[in-house]
Amino acid sequence: MRTETPIAVKLADYTPYPFDIEHVDLAFDLDPDATRVTATLKLSRKSKGSAPLVLDGEALKLLSIAIDGRALTPSDYTLTDHDLTLADVPDTFELRTQVEIAPSKNTALSGLYMSGGRFCSQCESVGFRRITYYPDRPDVMSRFFVTVTADKAACPIMLSNGTPGEVTDAGNGRHKATWDDPHKKPSYLFALCAGDYDVYRDSFTTMSGKQIDLAIHVDKGDADRAAWAMDSLKRSMAWDEETYGREYDLGVFNIVAVRDFNFGAMENKGLNVFNSAYVLADEDSATDADFEAIESIVAHEYFHNWTGNRITCRDWFQLCLKEGLTVFRDQNFSADMRSRPVQRIKDVIRLRARQFAEDAGPLAHPVRPANYGAIDNLYTATVYEKGAELIGMLRRMIGPEAYRQGMDLYFDRHDGQAVTIEEFYACFADVTGKDFGPFLRWYAQAGTPQVTVEESWDEAAGELTIKLAQATPPTPGQPTKKPVPIPLELALLDGKGGTDAWMTVLDTAETTITRKTDGGRPLLSVNRDFSAPIRVGRDLTRDQRLALVVAETDPFNQWEGVQTLVTEEILKLSEGSQAQPDSDLVAAVAEAIGNASGDPAFAALLTRLPEVGELFLERKPADPVALHSGRKRLQAALAATLAPTIATTLAAPSPTPYRPSAEQAGVRALRGAFINLLGASDDADAPKTLLSLYRHATNMTERLAAMRALTMKGQSAERDEALADFEQNWKHNPIVMDKWFAVQAGQGTAATVAELASHPDFDLKNPNRVRAVVGVFSTANLAAFHAPDGSGYRAVEDIILKADAANPALAARLLAAFEQWRMLEPRAGAAAEATLQRLQDAKLSPNSADIVGRALG
Ligand SMILES: [Zn+2]
Repeated sequence: MRTETPIAVKLADYTPYPFDIEHVDLAFDLDPDATRVTATLKLSRKSKGSAPLVLDGEALKLLSIAIDGRALTPSDYTLTDHDLTLADVPDTFELRTQVEIAPSKNTALSGLYMSGGRFCSQCESVGFRRITYYPDRPDVMSRFFVTVTADKAACPIMLSNGTPGEVTDAGNGRHKATWDDPHKKPSYLFALCAGDYDVYRDSFTTMSGKQIDLAIHVDKGDADRAAWAMDSLKRSMAWDEETYGREYDLGVFNIVAVRDFNFGAMENKGLNVFNSAYVLADEDSATDADFEAIESIVAHEYFHNWTGNRITCRDWFQLCLKEGLTVFRDQNFSADMRSRPVQRIKDVIRLRARQFAEDAGPLAHPVRPANYGAIDNLYTATVYEKGAELIGMLRRMIGPEAYRQGMDLYFDRHDGQAVTIEEFYACFADVTGKDFGPFLRWYAQAGTPQVTVEESWDEAAGELTIKLAQATPPTPGQPTKKPVPIPLELALLDGKGGTDAWMTVLDTAETTITRKTDGGRPLLSVNRDFSAPIRVGRDLTRDQRLALVVAETDPFNQWEGVQTLVTEEILKLSEGSQAQPDSDLVAAVAEAIGNASGDPAFAALLTRLPEVGELFLERKPADPVALHSGRKRLQAALAATLAPTIATTLAAPSPTPYRPSAEQAGVRALRGAFINLLGASDDADAPKTLLSLYRHATNMTERLAAMRALTMKGQSAERDEALADFEQNWKHNPIVMDKWFAVQAGQGTAATVAELASHPDFDLKNPNRVRAVVGVFSTANLAAFHAPDGSGYRAVEDIILKADAANPALAARLLAAFEQWRMLEPRAGAAAEATLQRLQDAKLSPNSADIVGRALG
């Protein structure tokens, strides 16, 4: 059977909705198998005309429909499986519909569903149409009043958006809650959660003195593990006041943790719903990375209250308007909470690993695409991560003060509206007088620009001439590209700590800059702080690169210099299976790590070697098995050279008592990096050392690092002992067990995936668990996933097909791992193509069909 091909939606086809909805009254009579939803909409026609009323609706059982109290019969409307059309409606009227839905049968986790016996909703982007008939699009903003009736015992707590009213008795063991949201919002920000929770409460006083009641709702017995999320929330609220002048606008702010969730978290107005992995943490069960992720995601969702909720997107093509901007805001929050250079490096690692790969493959698309097939597939690294970089470039080009003025104008001018990227940039044009037309090309063109840098030195004149040229490679549907304005931070370094730094905007295909200096030939530092999301091409020798690393005064570029050197070395090593790493290079990297010991978080990043996937872009065709082997040899050489330092560092005790502070996390990051190097080392005693580190670890960060390092070494009694012990201790904590699954999927083979998938705790209906196995295997274990015999693909194929039948959004995301198949060496490439073709011939959901179709191109 052929797959259903998604119909392309085009940005150019946008038309405003012909009706205003002044008010929405929603009444829920909750029941897992038969929930009744009564919706009363007050509608009025926006302008003269006779446009029909078209409401979106999916998987709904229509029980009744009435206009101004008059019941309609089937001849009065047209009903399909995706909409309800009323051809002849008055200019102003009240529409009342009643539908029945079955949350317990909703496995797509979109709309209203059950997780752990509780009701919860997820409406972005098009889940609200699975709750009631409604114009389910972001530019229809309305005031919502919600009534929830539920069983008292099963649902002692009933939550929705806005301000709570009184809870009253509804008879028959049921009770009723009301929620009134004074702010207009689109349907994708609607939320409803009901069930029995433990609640962690606190409060926050805003800059104008309003007291806000804060509450985090979690599984029974988990309340103490919400303390860090609450602390992060309060710091986010204070930061947005200080940095953007934005105050919270309701009297209550609720967070609900949900175990079965397709995303990280969702910014519903006043009721954020979180994947429980991003709420719950304590020193026993969570790593520093978990604490950091919770801090960042809590902030991200909170920041959406202004960038996303009060001002939303006109249509889903503008998704980057809320996501790119909010990611930029949360990255800066994290930088202020921790270390700015370390945060920048981590953000760039993420961008390059995910977004540059996307840009280089068949799924490449602009930050604001001109069309899409399946809307769930629009939530990409390009929209989020590259979208954030574009805001960063804007701020860099106009400076922090003008950026803040432009943001103030944006909040002021567009509050309560659904807007476009053009309207956002018009605010910055108004405060600076600048034309952002050329800059908007960044939103329309896919692909990562490549900037080549050539320099020549005139000794007599004391002048360095720098030739810069930009080119963006072709991407699907975009064979030729125009130049984009690229803000480049540059500096001349004299090697004695002297820095002559400036910024230039490269807005043509080529340009030449001449810079005079005193003294001898300076070293040129380019794209400092990663000022633009580009690839830089420079023809430098290893010695020139080494000299640059030593002279560099920008922490990002110092790290980048080391990354470039080790990347070149891994590529060289991957050409011959017996080749041994260059000892001078290894010594230089070890020295850089030693010199950074005063900033252990930075030193930890210097030990990091690029992942196999990042190396795909450097040499085509990519041979993941050879790259993995070359990478491992370099890691082993680094471990051998650093052995005395590693031994001394790990012999010292880990900081106690445990605190998730940036300072302590930095110390543990370096310890973790050294534990990881032990996993790659050829030292025969390493497994014993690692098991001992595992046993004596006083925190999850190091316990997990030791277990992972043991699995890196393949089969051993020590590895089996650590895995068995971990499972025994944590089998009742699903969030921690996700790590146990992920560690094995990240290191094992196709057989490991099969083993993990048949584990009694593997649950196809739980996205976190599926991602821990299939997602980690296919994105973080590329030598095994892209095994030339196709075994890696076969290991995930059936699981993805089964997942697709229940939860298309989840399956489509997993399938994106195939996007790089054209870059692979011929055997793996052919196996990947055959797999994609088999998948295309299977009965796929529209979401998955969209990814597979585009991947095959
Ligand atoms: Zn977001």
